Amino acid sequence: MARRTKVYEGKAKILYEGPEPGTLVQYFKDDATAFNAEKRDVIDGKGVLNNFLSELFMSGLNGIGVPTHFIRRLNMREQLIRAVDIIPLEVVVRNIAAGSLSKRLGLEEGTPLPRPIIEFYYKDDALGDPLVTEDQILAFNWASHQDLDDMVALAVRVNDFLSGVMLAVGIRLVDFKIEIGRQFDGDMQRLIVADEISPDSCRLWDIKTGTKLDKDVFRRDLGSLTDAYSEVARRLGVMPKSPTPIKPRLMN
Ligand code: UDP
Repeated sequence: MARRTKVYEGKAKILYEGPEPGTLVQYFKDDATAFNAEKRDVIDGKGVLNNFLSELFMSGLNGIGVPTHFIRRLNMREQLIRAVDIIPLEVVVRNIAAGSLSKRLGLEEGTPLPRPIIEFYYKDDALGDPLVTEDQILAFNWASHQDLDDMVALAVRVNDFLSGVMLAVGIRLVDFKIEIGRQFDGDMQRLIVADEISPDSCRLWDIKTGTKLDKDVFRRDLGSLTDAYSEVARRLGVMPKSPTPIKPRLMN
């Protein structure tokens, strides 16, 4: 079998050259990292779950006209995606106070926010991905005014879509992070949602019990990460290995 060309390897994913120009193959690893990779582990099955969950969210977004890099899933761990130039900013949307916002502003985790808050973090591992202002983004030319407008519009639509999808299965979307890329088509460029959307990049709390169903389970040693992600996948009807036994149907 021909060896594929690796384009990039990150903490949780590998990108390979795709079969056609302008495409890439995105491979989901089982590696989990937190606190800027100070805490790391290999979690059996995490990559498979994130591949299926990211497929569900990205294809749903494509379906409502929010452009994403997702083309199709290829197998248990890989998907075909559009190649983009990633804008070096993490876009975080928050509905409820948690994590770094709670720490920075002294807000108790779980405090509902008066309106969704959008934040930008500069993607730089050596600096620990610092929070940046729009003025800094413009001054350092990481994105233009138009890009910022487009990024906010995308982030708001992703928030509305994901919040609804989660609410329908009894899960509160507390916050999430997306990455956005530039897709070029001749002289034209458009911004599209890229990277992944999965419980690695969202905070998801069970509405009734408050149980955490996201990467905080790993960050804070709260139990089995695979169990948490499998629960999200099960509720959303995405079960890669279909471990649920089929119940006999009662006829009447
Ligand atoms: N997040 C992420 N990658 C990062 C930083 C944050 O996916 O490098 C996600 C995180 O899972 C959460 C949201 O962005 O859903 C907000 O994270 P926060 O700023 O609270 O930072 P944390 O507490 O995770 O350090």
